[in-house]
Amino acid sequence: MEKESIKKEVVVVGGGPAGLSGAIEAAKAGARVTLIDENDRAGGQLFKQIHRFFGSSEHKAGIRGYDIGKQLLQEAKDLDVEVMLNTVVWGIFKNGLLGIKRENKTEILVAKRILIATGASENPLSFPGWTLPGVMGAGAAQTMINLHRVLPGRKIVMVGSGNVGLIVSYQLLQAGAEVLVIVEVLPRIGGYLVHAAKIRRMGVPVLTSHTILKAEGKNEVEKVVIAKVDKKFKPIKGSEKKLKADLVCLAVGLEPLAELCWMAGCRFFYSRILGGFVPLHNKNMQTSIPHLYVAGDVSGVEEASTAMEEGKLAGIAMTESLGYISHQEAKKKKNVIQERLLALRQGPFGEERNQEKEKIYEIF
Ligand SMILES: Cc1cc2nc3c(=O)[nH]c(=O)nc-3n(C[C@H](O)[C@H](O)[C@H](O)COP(=O)(O)OP(=O)(O)OC[C@H]3O[C@@H](n4cnc5c(N)ncnc54)[C@H](O)[C@@H]3O)c2cc1C
Repeated sequence: MEKESIKKEVVVVGGGPAGLSGAIEAAKAGARVTLIDENDRAGGQLFKQIHRFFGSSEHKAGIRGYDIGKQLLQEAKDLDVEVMLNTVVWGIFKNGLLGIKRENKTEILVAKRILIATGASENPLSFPGWTLPGVMGAGAAQTMINLHRVLPGRKIVMVGSGNVGLIVSYQLLQAGAEVLVIVEVLPRIGGYLVHAAKIRRMGVPVLTSHTILKAEGKNEVEKVVIAKVDKKFKPIKGSEKKLKADLVCLAVGLEPLAELCWMAGCRFFYSRILGGFVPLHNKNMQTSIPHLYVAGDVSGVEEASTAMEEGKLAGIAMTESLGYISHQEAKKKKNVIQERLLALRQGPFGEERNQEKEKIYEIF
């Protein structure tokens, strides 16, 4: 298989903020980089993010996600990163071999270093009626409104009040839909209160200690039943409310999309805080398989800003190991990025994640 394979130096799987940043950093150091993404445009989640980012100017605060995407794509182009679009990586094997599919053809690549930056997938939630048309992930609804300009429903029940639930609710309102309610099973709102306040100002109730019981309809969602839950998350009889709705959006968490890492034989660690099973990695973003690196949501679900920093770390570490930059220079660069990551991982959500990441580095 190795003889028939196409030789590459650094292959990055996934063109979201993590993959693009890793590709740019590796190309800056002089490596020949190939970036692969299954979509017809690289950028990952960034092109769905029409809101301005938080943080400091180093973290591109105040800039809208899609503008960050455009900037990164331009940088990658200027650095001659080879970009393979509409291409799926379906397998990663021993000795740097990757199986890809493009234009209906299967090809085998072999790379000296691989960065897996495949992002995360949305968690499902099952309840009677959950397979009816009109029940979808909040991220899918966001893709429909912000990328394809299609409104997936007019009367919406959002399940989950994390940042995804809050932000997508706001964007659905901007797109002309009515968000009837956001239900949250926990006794508190999951996301940033600034997002929740915006939603509430627009008249959307955020009901904590509430859940969805069922969706009803003949061929698609027509009605949704919600109810209050007790301390043990059991629905309280008599608290049910029936709403006339045509869309249920599920924003109940994201999980690292790590199949390729499983396939490659990476060691894993379970972290509830980081979204589930996470490939073990060190501070260089190197996995238990030395030529394989991870960055972004696949290495633990966080945010686009941390994904970019982790991508840069991986890019530097890969090119350091290939001899493009000295250990001293790499150390200096990595220290600056670690400082920025620490700054990003502050606050109640960030600190938990920081502790979890430290645990992972230690176990590694
Ligand atoms: C609704 C919503 C709002 C958000 N708002 C913010 C925010 O305000 N600020 C912030 O910092 N973060 C925000 N985030 C989080 C942020 O989008 C993610 O943390 C970030 O995009 C992760 O980057 P990534 O590069 O790891 O993954 P992604 O951006 O998901 O990119 C992964 C890419 O890999 C591709 N891919 C996957 N598998 C394969 C394969 N086998 N072959 C080829 N290609 C593959 C995917 O199609 C995708 O293009 C938000 C997320 C959501 C869902």
